[in-house]
Order: sequence, then structure tokens, then C-alpha cells
Amino acid sequence: MREWGDLVVAATETGYELRHRADRGVPRTALADRDPDDFRAFVRADDDGRYRPFAGEQSLPTGWVLSGLDRTALLRALATVYPASVETWADDPNPVSYREVATRQTGIYERVANLSREELVDVTEAVCGNCAKRRDWDEHADDRLPVDRGDGALPCREPCSFLVAAAREVLVDEPPDEQAPDYPDADVPPGDLTDPGNRYRVRYRRARGVPDTPQR
Ligand code: SF4
Repeated sequence: MREWGDLVVAATETGYELRHRADRGVPRTALADRDPDDFRAFVRADDDGRYRPFAGEQSLPTGWVLSGLDRTALLRALATVYPASVETWADDPNPVSYREVATRQTGIYERVANLSREELVDVTEAVCGNCAKRRDWDEHADDRLPVDRGDGALPCREPCSFLVAAAREVLVDEPPDEQAPDYPDADVPPGDLTDPGNRYRVRYRRARGVPDTPQR
């Protein structure tokens, strides 16, 4: 059995089997068989039916199983959940730093180059702290951000577009502390970074130092 992000892969007599790692000990008969043909649409939403804004978000739906997979079908399913993850793991490219990614940005994203180190630390904690990937990049190539990297097998070698979008949004219009909600608004989609009640906006403010509020 092998973990891959929030997935677990097992070899069985009838081929490979894939399920959420939270369902590792669940009897197979208690899980819903998924059709590989609609798997892509299925994994884009969480257990509450909300769109998952980035592939690594730790909101993968539970309670399902894909079984009888040959090697090709297994690789296809892994790529559906975590695009290019097997290639990144196998090719082992050099990490790309946040500052390198920031200088590539154009248009409305150019301003992410202005993110301070402190803001980068807090955004990274807010976003990467809810991701199944192991963060291998830093602010610059030769330093280490003081943020937990995660310890999974699935490597992240450069800041993803969602992290860059979050960096832009907190620079654009973070509300005054007294107007900022303390808890995520369940009605705000996780991908709607423009709303101060968004899950990642709240996580960012908590990372900045608002005490005694639980993470989610
Ligand atoms: S940048 Fe962070 S959130 Fe994005 S894929 Fe990498 S570890 Fe996950």
C-alpha cells in the first residue's frame, strides 16, 4: 500500500485499487465504486459539493473506491487527482523560488513581487498548510521559509497559481482587523479569494497572529 497525497494505492488480485487515505481501513463494500470516466468531475468537488480551488487542497472527497485498475488506468487516475505529480516526482526538477515565480507575473499579478517576507510566510502557512503536497520551494533558492513543509511523497517544486492569487488578494484589499471575520463563511466558495470571509483569507489572518482560533 502506498500513499500519494491524500490517496492510497493498493495492489489487489484484480488490479490496483485507489481510495482516499482516510478510508484506508474501511471495508471495500462500504465504499462507493467510482467510474473512471466521471472521476475527473467527481474529484473537483469536496464532500459538501463545493469546488476545490487547487488540486492539492486537503478536501478530496471520501467514501469511494476505484478498483481493477491496470497500470495505465492507475496512472491516469493519479494524474486526474494530482496533475503531473508522477512526472514531477520522477523528473525531480530543481525547485523554483517564490521570488522567481513572482518576477514572471504580468498584469494584475505583477504586484505579488511586492509581498514582504513576513507576508509570504503567512500566505504560505495559510495556503500550503492545507495542501497534501510537500512544499520544496522557498522565498529564494538558498534559504528556508519558517513554515512546515509537510512530509508526504508528493512534491511541490514551485508556488502554484492559487498561492500566487492568494498573495495578490491579501495585498489588494485585506480589511481592517476590526472588520475582518474571525471564522470562514461556509457560504463563500474556497476559491473566492476576494471575500474576506474566504477560508484562506481567514487562515491568512490567523497566521498573521490572531490568537486562539482553531484552523480548518
Ligand atoms: S504552492 Fe503550496 S498550495 Fe500550491 S501546490 Fe504547492 S504546496 Fe500546495
